Amino acid sequence: MSDIFNFCAGPAMLPTEVMQQAQAEFINWQGLGCSVMEISHRSKEFIALAEQSEQDLRDLLNVPKDYAVLFAHGGGRGQFSAVPQNLAHADQSAAYLINGSWSEGAHKEGSKYLNAQVIGRSVIEQGLALVPEINAAEIDQSLAYYHYCPNETVEGMEINWLPDSGNVPLVADMSSCILSKEIDVSKFGVIYAGAQKNIGPSGLSVVLVRNELLDQARNTTPSFMHYKTMANFQSMYNTPPTYAWYLAGLVFKWLKAKGGVAAIEKINNQKAAHLYDCIDGSDFFLNHVHADYRSRMNVVFHLADPTLDALFLSEAEKAGLRALKGHRIVGGMRASIYNAMPLEGVKVLTEFMREFARSHG
Ligand SMILES: *Cc1c(COP(=O)(O)O)cnc(C)c1O
Repeated sequence: MSDIFNFCAGPAMLPTEVMQQAQAEFINWQGLGCSVMEISHRSKEFIALAEQSEQDLRDLLNVPKDYAVLFAHGGGRGQFSAVPQNLAHADQSAAYLINGSWSEGAHKEGSKYLNAQVIGRSVIEQGLALVPEINAAEIDQSLAYYHYCPNETVEGMEINWLPDSGNVPLVADMSSCILSKEIDVSKFGVIYAGAQKNIGPSGLSVVLVRNELLDQARNTTPSFMHYKTMANFQSMYNTPPTYAWYLAGLVFKWLKAKGGVAAIEKINNQKAAHLYDCIDGSDFFLNHVHADYRSRMNVVFHLADPTLDALFLSEAEKAGLRALKGHRIVGGMRASIYNAMPLEGVKVLTEFMREFARSHG
């Protein structure tokens, strides 16, 4: 183990134990004399892995029986186009809540495939970003779906309430918050997540679909992203990203061994509280998200004196704290503290921040 803590927003760090296990069995998986990435996805060994990982994910999120669990190609953005094509025809309408870059991207992509309305937007009140609550009365009940992003990775904004979309299926891009806290899957029509934040390597995405929504796809939906086809083929209509899937399976096992989502949620809350306390405890650091909407996965902060940004980043790097630079459209700093980041890493970061503020304040 190195003493580097990696705060990259994505692809993000994976649990050290998982990386060690993957390394140990890299060229000889389950005594087969070859890597898991060198065997057929139709072999009994891989099918067992696929079934086990699906079961583990179902256990972790308490996925109800009437939901399909899909392991898809194409990451988060792949679902930006899969969702409209699977849930609606071209003459239908859907609506999007926009509170940051990713929901904006989802809306833009959705507009290619249907009439994509915007219902709900983040606002700035007294210098702090927040999202006015949505209720069903605002949402035309004939819409195909209502899409939102509960954790905006770039802006560091998390929505902790469920938009009330009435009978319109709720679709959530949980790329950067899935498995970080307990959720009630039954409230959603579709949940999807690119894997590279809380699940595994990039390229893979996990999609949960309520079975009754499997039959709404338009005819032109590409077969490899067609939910019903994928479900019928156990996500193996074409060759799945097998190595990414294997690592996702190891991450699910790791999380189960840690006590599951409820247990990691407690640690995540501690990590976030620690970091926001440090930011709020000093005039040196600023955060512009309303307290009720601060992300527990992506903590965005600015130095009050931005001329110190470059120095902060280079000193941080020297202290073994990597990838703290904020997204270019927001600037400042961002510490992504997904499930794999230990509390220890956050403690080292906050000590560094206090020390930096002392010596440069
Ligand atoms: C990272 C991210 C995506 C994009 O994922 P890709 O795999 O790059 O397509 C989409 N939505 C959210 C919320 C993300 O954090």
